[in-house]
Amino acid sequence: MRIGAIEAGGTKFVCGIGDENGIVLDRVSFPTEQPEKTLGQVIAYFKDKQVEAIGVGTFGPIDIDPNSPTYGYVTTTPKPGWSNYPFLDTLKREFDVPFGWDTDVNAAAFGEATWGAAKGLDSVLYYTIGTGVGVGVYAEGKMVHGLVHPEGGHVLTRRHPDDAYEGFCPYHGDCFEGIAAGPAIERRWKVKGSELSEDHPAWRMEAFYIGQALANAILMISPKKIILGGGVMHQLQLFPLIREEVRSNLNGYVNAQAIVSGLDDYIVPPGLGDNAGLCGSIALGLQAWNQNR
Ligand code: ADP
Ligand code: ZN
Repeated sequence: MRIGAIEAGGTKFVCGIGDENGIVLDRVSFPTEQPEKTLGQVIAYFKDKQVEAIGVGTFGPIDIDPNSPTYGYVTTTPKPGWSNYPFLDTLKREFDVPFGWDTDVNAAAFGEATWGAAKGLDSVLYYTIGTGVGVGVYAEGKMVHGLVHPEGGHVLTRRHPDDAYEGFCPYHGDCFEGIAAGPAIERRWKVKGSELSEDHPAWRMEAFYIGQALANAILMISPKKIILGGGVMHQLQLFPLIREEVRSNLNGYVNAQAIVSGLDDYIVPPGLGDNAGLCGSIALGLQAWNQNR
């Protein structure tokens, strides 16, 4: 079976073809520009690919309420041209196949629950810590949408006592994203995160913030696993530091084996690696196909 997948990011689009086992058969990528141009490239790519369904996991905010007149739109993004853009309708006009549509991070959570590090679990959180921070919530076997969709990147965090950086979120300043996403690291330390040494104090501070957000999420959602992806999490030395922060924040209160003695298997990198997003979109496409049978 051939399923089309679109991982629509703020900086680049990845399109690909996958099968029903989440195997990526083909992939291409291009920069995110004006929607007419970028979606034109997407349409041209899928034109002769004979896919049976297409899954879209996209940057947001987006409208994912099927009963809304603007279902399938990107809503309030500052990205030039994309605000109030009918993303999904533009594709539906070209391809008469079932479409799956969700946030990039919900898709990644779903992909990881289907084929990755959370395979077989009915509950997982997926964080991407990159240019921004996004959180996908998969709970009780479904992507969580709620009122809009979860925006756990913007939760408020307690300041680290040694941190003088004010945060870059245009809405909240020093919310989790504003204080911990890639650009915050770069502005605080005046050098790109990828250029900081493994033992630089930046990583303890980073783990301090991530550990708070995760402890709050564990208390709120009680996920069965937490997956951390995105560019910043290529710094694998963060994982033990984050687990330590989570343990210390929860301080024995959540009495589950995964927390008490299993944190190494509870807070983990994506099992699908850098394919987490694309595989998530394949999973969305497959789900849409199954629902239309
Ligand atoms: P995006 O969030 O735009 O989809 P990424 O997940 O690659 O893309 O995140 C990009 C951000 O992550 C940038 O701020 C970059 O500085 C940071 N980043 C990328 N690679 C690394 C790395 N190896 N170590 C630390 N930070 C990194
Ligand atoms: Zn914010």
